[in-house]
Parts: sequence; C-alpha cells; structure tokens
Amino acid sequence: MIDMNPTLEVRGLFKTFVTSGLGSRVEVRAVRGVDLKLRPGETTGLVGESGCGKSTLARCAVRLLEPDAGSVFFEGTDLSRMPASDLRKSRRHFQMIFQDPLASLNPRLTVAAAIAEPLEAHRLGTRRERDLQVAQLMESVALDPALAGRRPAMLSGGQQQRAVIARALALRPRLLIADEPVSALDASVQIQILNLLADLQRRLGLTLLMISHSLAAIHYLCLHIRVMYLGKIVEESPAEPFFREPQHPYSRLLLDSMPPRMGPELAALTPRGDLPSPANPPPGCAFHPRCDHASERCRAGCPELTDLGGGRSVACFLFD
Ligand code: SF4
Repeated sequence: MIDMNPTLEVRGLFKTFVTSGLGSRVEVRAVRGVDLKLRPGETTGLVGESGCGKSTLARCAVRLLEPDAGSVFFEGTDLSRMPASDLRKSRRHFQMIFQDPLASLNPRLTVAAAIAEPLEAHRLGTRRERDLQVAQLMESVALDPALAGRRPAMLSGGQQQRAVIARALALRPRLLIADEPVSALDASVQIQILNLLADLQRRLGLTLLMISHSLAAIHYLCLHIRVMYLGKIVEESPAEPFFREPQHPYSRLLLDSMPPRMGPELAALTPRGDLPSPANPPPGCAFHPRCDHASERCRAGCPELTDLGGGRSVACFLFD
C-alpha cells in the first residue's frame, strides 16, 4: 500500500503570546509542543474548552499566525519556511472558516462578489466563467440564487455562513479548517450547517479539521478525535472507541458534561472546575488540580503521549 503524505502535519509546534503593560509582562503559552497529522480525506475533531489553544494551533498550522517553534507540512511541503509569495499561492489548497460569518465577509461586497473574490485574487477564469462558478458554488451550499445581489448584513446567520463556505470552496481546497463554524448560529441552523459540511466533505473528499468546544458537534462530523488541554494534546483516538470509552481523565470529564441526547442544540462543554489560566499553567500535568486520580508524580512531571494501540494515545501517568 502506498503511504501518502499526510494532508497536514504539524511537528513540535509552540506559540506564546506576550502582553505587557503597567510594568508587568505576561506570557500566555497557548500551544506547548503539539504534533498533529491529518491524512487525506480524514475528518478530525479538535475539542477542548475555550482558551485551551485550539484556534491558535489552527491559525499557526496555516500560518495566519507565526509559530515560535515547530514545523508545518502541507502534503509534504514545509510551509514554515515558505516565502510569503509562495505561501499566498499555496493558500488556495487550504482554507479556513471562522465562528462569526458576518465578520468574515466584506460588508461592501454582495454575496456573489464575495464568493468570486478568491477567484479574482488568483486570476482564475474569465468574468463569464467566474459568474458561472459562483452560481454553481451557491447551489452547492444551497444558497438561493436570489440572494446573489444582497449584502451580508441582509442575510440570516445561516445564509452568511453558507456564503462563507462557498467562498472557502471557490479555489477547490483539499483541506478545510472549520473553527467553531456553528457556535454563533441559532440552534435550529446549527444542524443544517453541520449537515452541509458533512455532505461537502464526502462529495469533495476534503480533509476536514473541525475545531469546537461542543463534543456533540464533533461527534456529528468527525471520525477522529484530538482532545486539547492547556496547549497540549492529551488524547487522540478514532471517534468510535473514544465516545464509547474515553481514556484520559479530562476526556471523561468532557464526555460526562455532554448532553445525554443529541438535540438540535449543540451545547458547549461545561465540565466541572475551571480551566486554569494559560498564563500560569499548573506544574506537572496541567490537569492535576481537576483530576480525581492526581498523585505526587502528576504534580511533579508532565506525561507524554503514550501509544495504546489501535490509533489511540493518551498523555496520562495512569497509562505509561
Ligand atoms: Fe490525572 Fe495524573 Fe493522569 Fe494528569 S497524569 S490526568 S493528574 S492521573
């Protein structure tokens, strides 16, 4: 069997934000040594509470943010060392969609112009060909053609996110990173957008990284799971065994906080205890202040990911 390059591979990524003012300097260590591999056509959910570093990791992976250390490879090509002009060209192959669709759209452009924007930026096709492609993209995201001439503020939240997805697909990317794509939407629209993403992923064979603080949304879409806690991956697993029997104590806490039934409302995680500040993470295993199994060892040392077999790895001293 040919071992294809992963679509995206992140190795040893670190990112710290520094803020200063009133004589103090605060370092927020948002991502602390993350490895991540997404294989072609895989759907992967990156889950964790708000503030655990998921979005920073994704932005560093596509170089919307510059990491402090580590490498990022897209289909085997090192993005971390790519000159800006080459990176601009490569960006057509990986696209990101964000939580707030209205903020992602230029308020002065009509829906059709917004979707055509990347085609124009990359000088693809004639005017007529671009118009045709915009119509096809609108159809593929079930956006009424009558909305083509409207401005974003005249659309509902769901229609705005459909327009954002259509624009992200205009350049036929192979990797789509969806950062909390439904959390700003009404409950009734969330499932529609998740269904749309699932359908597009299957039809186009996209590699999809879904970032969410809703395990229910991840469960809906993804066959692979990565759990992140205070800047580190603490569990990776195929979805089925993960949802049946999560291994890391933090994963168990997340699953315990998940609503018992999948309703149209994809509730955010509300696990017991608070996420410590990433500006001052606890020593040793950062989860130890919330962990029922914490021992002296957990307060002194930081566990690395241990391979459990079957595609599962856990960073916890209970498993090494
Ligand atoms: Fe809990 Fe210790 Fe495992 Fe951390 S290493 S999750 S504190 S048992």
